[in-house]
Amino acid sequence: MVSSEFAFELAVCQWAERAWSPAEDAAVLVARQFGTKHRRWDTIVLECDPAGLRDRAKFGVESFDSDLLHVLRNAPADWTYYRDALPDPGYPWRYVRESIHEAADRDAIETRKRGNRIEIRRVRPYPDWVRRIIAIENKPDLTASAARNLVPQLQRDIALSLADEVWVATETTDERVEPILLADLPAAAGVLTIDPEQATAEPVWQPRSLSVEDPGTRILDRPADDTSAARFEYVDTDWKRERRLAIAERAYARGWRAYADTMRPDCRHFQLSADETGVFPHCAAKECLPTAAECRGRCPSYEPEPPAWRSKAWPLDGGPGKAIQRLLARRRRRQRPGLSE
Ligand code: SF4
Repeated sequence: MVSSEFAFELAVCQWAERAWSPAEDAAVLVARQFGTKHRRWDTIVLECDPAGLRDRAKFGVESFDSDLLHVLRNAPADWTYYRDALPDPGYPWRYVRESIHEAADRDAIETRKRGNRIEIRRVRPYPDWVRRIIAIENKPDLTASAARNLVPQLQRDIALSLADEVWVATETTDERVEPILLADLPAAAGVLTIDPEQATAEPVWQPRSLSVEDPGTRILDRPADDTSAARFEYVDTDWKRERRLAIAERAYARGWRAYADTMRPDCRHFQLSADETGVFPHCAAKECLPTAAECRGRCPSYEPEPPAWRSKAWPLDGGPGKAIQRLLARRRRRQRPGLSE
């Protein structure tokens, strides 16, 4: 049994990064813990166009939000007054001007002033780099009540169809029939059983490909009884396209190793342990894989690195805490070909 949901989540991410088999010759990127305002997914796998992913790297590792993407994707090849070049955003133009300046500060577009007018020009086209988005819900210990709670979430994901596939990952058991297959989950959701000890996974139920190019349905309220009507609203394809790209952008920037940003690698007990299944955080004081929630400044066992570790007595710049963060950042970069150091 894994020690926590966090440990399970890291095992799923390591496995997906190593062994996810995408359709065609796609490059794979993995990220964890985000989605939209309405829905947070545990693990996200992006299947990317390899050439597009390299072109995306030319824009740097930082993500672009929807407003910046609006500018980037519509920036013209030749100098044009920005209001002639960009479609009406549906919100005040002054916010567009802010995004233009931010994009220019990041060297993603060029700007110049002609009289009172701001003209823009692209530096390079923003590539079409995301092919498919796979959302995985992690439930290491799928009890009957956890399965019941999961059903409405999966129904919402399937109705909205923002991701191309939705999966549930659970820890493999010794049962002849995996208990998750007996849970009444929607048939469109796939099921993965994970063996964290061996770092292997088996798809025991294949998902249906969802219609990401069609309008979706957001279920606002689904009453428990069968007599009351559910409340829902439609979401159009433009909204979905925009959201998908914004999700992919954040996944590109963060990946799944960003746990080092919120945990305490500067604690003297923080270590990275590596075996054939991957690299995991390890707490030498508690002799376990600490969760992101417990490995914080308020942890009663937290002890800062001794100052000597950060100075000449330590062979690496900034001490072991900084070295761990650099190592994780390097590994994150390795999955994003074309990024400059
Ligand atoms: S002692 Fe606490 S803060 Fe330090 S590594 Fe362990 S869990 Fe993290």
